[in-house]
Amino acid sequence: MEKWEQSLKDCVTSPEELAGLFRVDTGDCATVSRRYPMRITRYYLGLVQKPGDAIWRQCVPQTEELADFSQSPDPLDEERLSPVPGLIHRYPDRVVWIASASCPVYCRFCMRKRGVGCAAMAPAAPEAALAYIEAHPEIRDVILSGGDPLMLHDDQLDALLSSIRQIPHVEIVRIGTRVPVTFPERVTARLARMLKKHHPLFINTHFNHPDEITPQSAKACATLSDAGIPLGNQCVLLKGVNDDPQVMRRLMLKLLSIRVRPYYIHQMDLVKGTAHFRTPVTSGIRILNALRGHCSGLAQPHYVIDLPGGKGKVEIPSGKVRRDGATLYLTNYLGEEIAYEDLG
Ligand code: SF4
Repeated sequence: MEKWEQSLKDCVTSPEELAGLFRVDTGDCATVSRRYPMRITRYYLGLVQKPGDAIWRQCVPQTEELADFSQSPDPLDEERLSPVPGLIHRYPDRVVWIASASCPVYCRFCMRKRGVGCAAMAPAAPEAALAYIEAHPEIRDVILSGGDPLMLHDDQLDALLSSIRQIPHVEIVRIGTRVPVTFPERVTARLARMLKKHHPLFINTHFNHPDEITPQSAKACATLSDAGIPLGNQCVLLKGVNDDPQVMRRLMLKLLSIRVRPYYIHQMDLVKGTAHFRTPVTSGIRILNALRGHCSGLAQPHYVIDLPGGKGKVEIPSGKVRRDGATLYLTNYLGEEIAYEDLG
């Protein structure tokens, strides 16, 4: 058994233990965790500076999760868009493959909290998923997601990637993972050597707060980058975690310092059990405006809403544009409106 597998057995899963460690009343944590499971790695829990802070809010069950009846467990209609269980085909040229149903930390804001960590969600059966992709030559991009695909053992993941790579029309493979953030010790040299065989391979990480960037998570990202894997980051705008322009600015700049390119800021999906994390769209626009011009273009993510009903992502623009005949009036990062002569 590898060291990371041993550490995984030592995660905090008991609300009583959590209460004892922080000497706090964790309220309805036990009731909530019976519906939406709790698991927190010792590493990630070690990032909590005090109960209620940004790290705590992301991983400790909260009463509000059970009080949210207004929203759908699956607002993006992923189950309807699954031609075979565990394979989501929403856009013509790409599919999402649920490679694992478990994660080192069960994030309280998860868009798949309807099933992640529960019997309700199962990984895609490889034979059926591969047969579907083989039968659809328009699929050129396979995104391994979950749960967390890096919860698979190296050999399992190697076998899965090898089978996908045997399909000639699949051009790229992407992996979405929060492992570098919540469980960086899982990113071993052995894992990186194996992944390197399957290029072109891209990894999207999921850092939400600058305090998640530590020497350990930086080392995990460096191990992946050194294997030639381009790293991007998708974060979610979360009330009480990162809905603050200064926090987001620090996050974006720190990501660049560990060779991770900011890619998306997601508006929270309308997922049942997560309403307490939602922010108005104006918050996201305010954050984008605070980033524009104040930090390099490399640090500018796209701010997107994933439309309900599986209708796809739409980018929310931040800059103001007004037209008068052939003249465009564009507002810059200082709030000045500047005229630009367009082609008539
Ligand atoms: S790691 Fe990703 S899939 Fe797993 S609980 Fe967190 S957000 Fe959900």
